[in-house]
Amino acid sequence: MSGEALFPTYARYPLALVKGEGSWLWDDQGNKYLDFMSGLAVTNLGHAPQAIKDALIAQLDQVWHVSNLFRIPVQEEAAELLVQHTGADAVFFCNSGAEANEGAIKLARRYFQKVKGEHRYEIITFTQSFHGRTLATLTATGQDKVKEGFLPLPEGFVTVPMHDLDAVRAAITDRTAAVMLELVQAEGGVLPAKPEFVHDLAKLCRDAGILLILDEVQTGMGRTGKLFAQEHYGIQPDIFTAAKGLGSGFPVGAVLAKEFLREAFSPGSHATTFGGTPIASAVVKATVQEIAGNRVYDRAAGAASYLTGQLREKLAGNPWVKQIRGLGLLIGIECAGPVADVIATMRERGLLVVPAGPNVVRLLPNLLVSHAEIDQAVGIIAAVLKEKTVTAPQ
Ligand SMILES: *Cc1c(COP(=O)(O)O)cnc(C)c1O
Repeated sequence: MSGEALFPTYARYPLALVKGEGSWLWDDQGNKYLDFMSGLAVTNLGHAPQAIKDALIAQLDQVWHVSNLFRIPVQEEAAELLVQHTGADAVFFCNSGAEANEGAIKLARRYFQKVKGEHRYEIITFTQSFHGRTLATLTATGQDKVKEGFLPLPEGFVTVPMHDLDAVRAAITDRTAAVMLELVQAEGGVLPAKPEFVHDLAKLCRDAGILLILDEVQTGMGRTGKLFAQEHYGIQPDIFTAAKGLGSGFPVGAVLAKEFLREAFSPGSHATTFGGTPIASAVVKATVQEIAGNRVYDRAAGAASYLTGQLREKLAGNPWVKQIRGLGLLIGIECAGPVADVIATMRERGLLVVPAGPNVVRLLPNLLVSHAEIDQAVGIIAAVLKEKTVTAPQ
C-alpha cells in the first residue's frame, strides 16, 4: 500500500492515523499524538465524542438515506436548532464548505434575479480569503495559487484589498449582489477582521441594498468561543455558511439565511442528493445540541484564554516569533520564516499542528481540550521554536 492509486493532490505527511479519542490520535505503529489540528477545525468535540456516536448509531438502526423529495423529520429538527441558536431563519443542508459557499452565492444571485427582478450577480470578496475549490468558490478566493491551471474562471467575482472600505465602495455597481468574507481569514494566515471595518462594511452593504455573506465554514460551531464568530462582532449577516465543525467529522455543510431570502430558493431551484440525509442530520442535530445547547463554546473561550496566555508567556522573548493572534481556538503563531520544518519537528515530538500560509503555525485544538493537554502542547511548541532561534537567521 502506497497511495499510488490516488491522485497526488495532497503533499501528505508520512503518517497513517488509525484511531482517535478525545484530543488524541494513534498511528498504525502505535505512536500517540496530541491533536491540535482537529482534521482542520472539524472534530470540534474531539475524536469519537460519545453523544454524537450515540446519535449516529441510533440513526443507523432506523434509516440511512431517503431522498429530499420526502420530509425528513430529523433534518427539520436540526434546522430548527440552528435557527433557534442563530440569527438565521432558513437553512439549506449540503455536504461541504465549498458547496455551502456555492449555495450562498447562488442564493444571492437568485434573490436579485427572481425576487427583486434586478440583474445583479457580482460577488465582492477580499485578498487572502479562502472560500473553497469549486470553480465558483476558487474564483471567489482571494489567493492566486488556487486558480492556477483552471482557466477560464466563471464571471461575476471581484476581489478587493482586505480592510479597504473605499475599495469596496468603488467596486459596488448596479451588478453587485453581495460582499462575502471570513471574519477570521483562516487559510490566509489566521487574520482576524478589524471590528470597525466589519461594522462599516455591514452598514455599506445595507445602504447600497446588497447582501452581506459571511463564510463561517472554519470560524463556526464554537471554534472562536461563540457559536458563530459573527457574535463577537455584533452583526447579523443576510447569509452565512457552516461546514467543518457542523458534523463532528461527518461531511456536512449548511447555508443559513434571513427570512426575506427564504422564497428565493423556491422548489426545484437548488438541490443536492446527500444534503441533510437522515444520518447527516442526526449528526448535525447532536452536534448543535452539544455545542450550542450545552454551551461548549464557553469551554472553548476558557481554553482559548488559557492557551493564548501560556503561549504569550512561554514564547516571550523568542525573536523568531513575530505575533500570536487569532480568535478563540483559531490561533496563529506568525514566525520570521517558513514553518514547514518546525511543524514536522513538532509532529515527531507528538504534537499535530498545521500551517496557515508559509510562515504561520496554526493551532486548532478541540473545544474540550484540557489545561494539561494545553500545557503539554505549549511545552513542545516553545521548545521547538526555541531551538529554531539557535539555527535560524533572524
Ligand atoms: C475549509 C474552508 C472552506 C472549504 O470547505 P470544504 O469543506 O473543504 O469545501 C471554505 N471556506 C473556509 C473559510 C474554509 O476554512
